[in-house]
Amino acid sequence: MRVAILSRNPKLYSTRRLVEAGEERGHQVDVIDTMHCYMDITSNSPSVRYHGKKLPHYDAVIPRIGASVTFYGTSVVRQFEMMGTYSINESVAISRSRDKLRSLQLLSRKGIGMPRTGFAHSPDKIDDLIKNVGGAPVVIKLLEGTQGIGVVLADTHKAAESIIEAFMGLNASILVQEYIKEAGGTDIRCFVVGGKVIAAMKRQAAPGEFRSNLHRGGSASLTRLSPQERKTAVDAAKTMGLNCCGVDILRSNHGPVVMEVNSSPGLEGIETATGKNVASMVFEFIEKSARPNNTKTRGKG
Ligand code: ADP
Ligand code: MG
Repeated sequence: MRVAILSRNPKLYSTRRLVEAGEERGHQVDVIDTMHCYMDITSNSPSVRYHGKKLPHYDAVIPRIGASVTFYGTSVVRQFEMMGTYSINESVAISRSRDKLRSLQLLSRKGIGMPRTGFAHSPDKIDDLIKNVGGAPVVIKLLEGTQGIGVVLADTHKAAESIIEAFMGLNASILVQEYIKEAGGTDIRCFVVGGKVIAAMKRQAAPGEFRSNLHRGGSASLTRLSPQERKTAVDAAKTMGLNCCGVDILRSNHGPVVMEVNSSPGLEGIETATGKNVASMVFEFIEKSARPNNTKTRGKG
């Protein structure tokens, strides 16, 4: 097969590993910088142009779209879908998962466990917003944050009020969430491919920190998932419509709760922690699924 990885940076661990694994399995793999693609969207035979030339036909694309370029990136993926190219994650599913509020609303609608969560932009009653998720301590999150930046733990009701007021001053939308203390600074990253958890790791926050992000000094190790955790991860991926994603779960007293679903999960942490060839498993799924027009929306979404 001829496969394109849509990535801004061929040097990234995840991109390099996908190229390597694809080539090992006998495929021709190109890395295409999504942001340099351009398109004639009016033509009745849609195509994507790159470096002054029409791109060749690809059997499949693997979108690795950074959060900061979701809007343009997903439109490039949509163009590939219109051309009949199979995309492991569809453009609509990527857009859906990038909107944290929309994602949590969808997960809640399907009855998937999550921390009690409120969201707000300019609440007229901050006090009620905090009480409504069970009161302090609460976790307050800026909607646009990634890698743990913009995620704050407010120990007391007063602190929570001040932080929410400060964020309101910045004209930002926020999430106010029940603090899952019993998780002890640990979360579980489940790597889901084709409706199965193919690898999972536990991430432990650095001492004195509650955020387990590896970018915040967290450390990764192996973990065994309970059947309920496995089901939660698979259900979350299905709800988002993502064939390949990372589902982040906290172990709470009321069962596994989903924090977020990532449509471009990194490979370095999970391959290192588990010793599994995750990149190769991604290709194994593509080999089974990549047929012309085998996306749900074919670019119509
Ligand atoms: P980001 O998108 O920036 O990674 P997350 O929502 O994943 O933001 O939060 C970052 C980290 O903070 C999580 O990995 C988790 O360890 C911790 N955390 C987030 N929300 C909660 C919560 N409600 N209770 C306990 N810990 C949390
Ligand atoms: Mg996170």
